[in-house]
Amino acid sequence: MNYSTAFLATASAAFLQMFGLPATAAGESLLIENVTLVSPELPQPLGNRHVLVREGRIETVSERPIAAPSGVRRLDGSGKFLTPGLTDAHVHLSDAIGLPFASGNPEFEALEKEYFVQQPRSYLYFGVTQVLDTANRPDRVAFFASQPRAPDTYRCGAAPVVDGYPLVFVDKAIRHQVFSDYIFEPANAREHPMPDGANPAEHTPEAVVERIATSGAICVKISLEDGFGEQNDWPVMSAETLRRVRDATKKRGLFLAVHANALDMQRRAVEADVDLLLHGIWNWNELNEQQGVPHAVSDHLRNVRHRKIGYQATLRVLPGVTDLLDTTLLDDPVYRKVVPPRLLAWYHTEPAQWFKRLVYGPNPDAASMLAADRDANSRWATSERGKRALRHLYELGQPLLLGSDTPSAPTYGNQPGYDTFKEMKMMADLGIPLSAILAAGTINNARQLGMEKDYGTIAKGKVANLLLLDANPLSSIDAWTRIDRVILRGEPIERESLAAD
Ligand SMILES: [Zn+2]
Repeated sequence: MNYSTAFLATASAAFLQMFGLPATAAGESLLIENVTLVSPELPQPLGNRHVLVREGRIETVSERPIAAPSGVRRLDGSGKFLTPGLTDAHVHLSDAIGLPFASGNPEFEALEKEYFVQQPRSYLYFGVTQVLDTANRPDRVAFFASQPRAPDTYRCGAAPVVDGYPLVFVDKAIRHQVFSDYIFEPANAREHPMPDGANPAEHTPEAVVERIATSGAICVKISLEDGFGEQNDWPVMSAETLRRVRDATKKRGLFLAVHANALDMQRRAVEADVDLLLHGIWNWNELNEQQGVPHAVSDHLRNVRHRKIGYQATLRVLPGVTDLLDTTLLDDPVYRKVVPPRLLAWYHTEPAQWFKRLVYGPNPDAASMLAADRDANSRWATSERGKRALRHLYELGQPLLLGSDTPSAPTYGNQPGYDTFKEMKMMADLGIPLSAILAAGTINNARQLGMEKDYGTIAKGKVANLLLLDANPLSSIDAWTRIDRVILRGEPIERESLAAD
């Protein structure tokens, strides 16, 4: 996070007001003719369909040609596939990827601004027409949503405990201003008292959830994270406080999303009957060295399934960091499409390697580190454990969700939109059927967010956020990169017009 006041000044009150509301309808009518529908509720694609869109919503889906109303824009769908637009239900729109925290440096501020202008376009470039931001910078989320072409934008309000994750990464002097909806945890009062001058009555679970609800958020995000890896000294919320948060969110009709990726922490979340786990389970605590999926992890995943708790695997979190070791990463031609040219040039510089140095030290032995990460039998194979868990959960019949957690860290290995696709590709590489991946990115996410009325399938009345593809996404995962047009609230946009170059 980078706190440049110059940038914040550009996110005006008007933007804040529209925040949480869908973008204005384009108003134009659109007729898509002779197209093949690929939608998650259909057992197979339906050829030669005709779709009429009016005022940003689907009005008719028909087997028969539709007489074109006057002034309608027509799009020939012959040989093409029409899908619902994708929802990435775990993004962080506030972070200009790869730039150092709290820089206050004019060069960085300029790069940051270019990043924020391109960011919504990069999501659209990869067919992401809805996003859920799970952090706590409403001003920046509002800036994103206010761009001329941006996905429909929703957010959770973050409610960390005093000094807890993710505040541990923010300077102590400002952390409780940045995450102002923090919760006071009486059980931690001795080591983590209320910040000076703050009123405890404003930081009870009920007061915080109330503020978040009033701010227009659709969910509350809490973190059950006592430290990465084997670390366990960050303060977390007690079971009693968690119960109160749970009750308060139910009362206000918000869903409760939880950051947790370790077995002990995810168990607490499941016991509290939360709605959504924002990460897959890749820290199996003392069971890390076991092969396959240990019984305890399997039992936990059965509980997740049984209680119908949403589970985002976020497979890209760890590769997003290890990708920094790949010296060819920035030569990937797709980077030119999603990263503004000056920022991409900066990624090549020495100062841009700050996070890589922080994680791996000054002279990392990239080859052996990458090999260890990819070795399924290594205790360091965090990513591998996350994959095994997802595969297992899929076999238990869990409806999968799509959430890329872009960026999960200040790593330029995660990029908006591109990482959403990479998340889907990792699922496909695991042997998850393409139909389950389609459902994850469309109807399952829509249901999880309580937005089935608006999104998730190609049906009358839904928001006309659609993708016209040159290939069938049920035949190849790469079809999701073969986007002819992104249709945003009925407005067809040529993919290349969204590219950063
Ligand atoms: Zn996240």
